[in-house]
Amino acid sequence: MSQKDMRIAIVGLGGMGDWHRQLIESIDGLTLAGTYDIREERQEYAREKKVNVYDSFEELLADKSVDLCLIATPNDLHKPLAIAAMKAGKNVVSEKPVTLSSADLQEMIDASKETGMLFTVHQNRRWDEDYLTMKKIYEENMLGEVFRIESRVHGSRGIPGDWRQEKEHGGGMVLDWGVHLLDQILLMMEGVKLKKVYATMTYVTNQLVDDGFTASLLFANGTEVIVEVGTSNFVNLPRWYMLGSNGTAVIEDWNLKGEIVSAKGQNEKDVVPVITAAGLTKTMAPRREDTIAKAELPAVKSDIRDFYRNVMKAIRGEEEIIVKLPEVARVMRLMEAIFESAEKKQAIDFE
Ligand code: NAD
Repeated sequence: MSQKDMRIAIVGLGGMGDWHRQLIESIDGLTLAGTYDIREERQEYAREKKVNVYDSFEELLADKSVDLCLIATPNDLHKPLAIAAMKAGKNVVSEKPVTLSSADLQEMIDASKETGMLFTVHQNRRWDEDYLTMKKIYEENMLGEVFRIESRVHGSRGIPGDWRQEKEHGGGMVLDWGVHLLDQILLMMEGVKLKKVYATMTYVTNQLVDDGFTASLLFANGTEVIVEVGTSNFVNLPRWYMLGSNGTAVIEDWNLKGEIVSAKGQNEKDVVPVITAAGLTKTMAPRREDTIAKAELPAVKSDIRDFYRNVMKAIRGEEEIIVKLPEVARVMRLMEAIFESAEKKQAIDFE
């Protein structure tokens, strides 16, 4: 006998809510029960798309056929809406960042425990192929001992001119993009303690919230990780740069342009110095081609629909949830350490 479809309702049908609407349509076993947005224009938009539209959040919660709620509103509203949904007997997926502080997150976790409802977060960038490819290079020791990882996203348009510019709605780039990059790094370095955090922030286009940051994370095994989000970068640095004792990997962009360059054979003995305008150097002279090996990236493929497939199986008790609350809580504490470090202009002890 085939299983009954699971029914999901979307709260907040803005840019991301609509992305979920389209994704849900492509997932077997998941049916969109309806949507609710506080703005009439978005309600109208949903009607045009032939979606069932709830007149209020309360009406959505009262629909007994709804198993699961996706919360895709501005960040400050995730907590009250998620807690209300769990109390109404709905399982909940919250958009990222889950909320604005560890204390708020604890209230959400408590609500999940009290109600027995599943609660997880849409950390969708765990399925990004650039990340999965770098993770494979790291896990399979393809560069020897990794001592430095740099993860960056760069744009040049400042912060989008909506609630993301306002502190009370949970704006700023640490909470917006930082949450993805930090989640990725903590998973990649799973099992290794993060000892120290030092961060600086930029306020180039906006004084109310950070429009970029650079965080240096020092792990217990000696690996240093740089995580950076920039929105005034008219020339982008590579998305990923990883240095190991035997080679370097670079991924330039989301299309996985990049390569691995490793040492091959004996080290050069008679290095020809490079002559610069004001001197000469052997140390920084480029390698001879016969002493290095260039390899293509071991590109990893993914399917973002696996996020919802896992949520459905976890609700049915058939699989462990992938995005776990202790992981989400650790990333939240790390974002708080980044804010604290930038404010105090000093390194923060983390674990
Ligand atoms: P948005 O402004 O386009 O959409 C938010 C929507 O929520 C708006 O339509 C707004 O009217 C609605 N809303 C506000 N208050 C509401 C309420 N009380 N009840 C119902 N609806 C309400 O913003 P967005 O870009 O779609 O971002 C929404 C969420 O998704 C944010 O938390 C953001 O961080 C997240 N997001 C995640 C990703 C990702 O890749 N995971 C990407 C973009 C945005």
